[in-house]
Amino acid sequence: MGEKTVDLETETKETLEAVRTFVETQAEFGLSEFRLARADADTRLAGFHETIRDCRMCGLCESRRTVVFGSGNPDAGLMFIGEAPGAEEDRTGLPFVGPAGELLTRMIEAIGFQRDEVYIANVIKCRPPGNRDPKPEEVRKCRPFLERQIELVQPVAICALGLFAARTLLETDEPMGSLRGRQFSYRGIHLIPTYHPAALLRNRHWKRPAWEDLQLLRRVYDDEAG
Ligand code: SF4
Repeated sequence: MGEKTVDLETETKETLEAVRTFVETQAEFGLSEFRLARADADTRLAGFHETIRDCRMCGLCESRRTVVFGSGNPDAGLMFIGEAPGAEEDRTGLPFVGPAGELLTRMIEAIGFQRDEVYIANVIKCRPPGNRDPKPEEVRKCRPFLERQIELVQPVAICALGLFAARTLLETDEPMGSLRGRQFSYRGIHLIPTYHPAALLRNRHWKRPAWEDLQLLRRVYDDEAG
């Protein structure tokens, strides 16, 4: 198991470096670097999924059924990032299915996108038993996978769904009350935190502020994407 872990970490680093080199080379020669890099990114995203399909880098591999990688458009301008898969996601292999997923679909449509136009992923790729909070060690092991997904998709803006995703990406301990309603930067990409759809299903009083956050997300996207 130790050998496999080392191999996966090495492979991840090497592929990240290859992506960077490819993009830099295309730019250097004045080619249509964005289009070429994008086509390459699509392939690499699918290849990356294959790479971590059997990941055993943290203890969550013992109880999960499926590594829930992510879904949607590899060329998306918007990424929605949640916490971790639940039971239904673990069963189907897809992020955000069930009632919370249906609400997320409506949230996406409310700002003028279709679900298959955006990219959806979680910070943690395997379901924590009983839907407990992910442990710091699990976050440390799994977070690089999300970072690489973001690097490959290159979205214009990210919507962090829930406190866990917002805190992990922004490396902060601030409460949602002070994070939401604001615009942040994650490695140069606009990031807007809002409530997790599952939380919105439990507390209808958060729907109004969540709607305001989504409108902010749309404005930020429009400003950047033109
Ligand atoms: S949670 Fe992440 S690091 Fe842990 S086994 Fe799953 S894919 Fe690997």
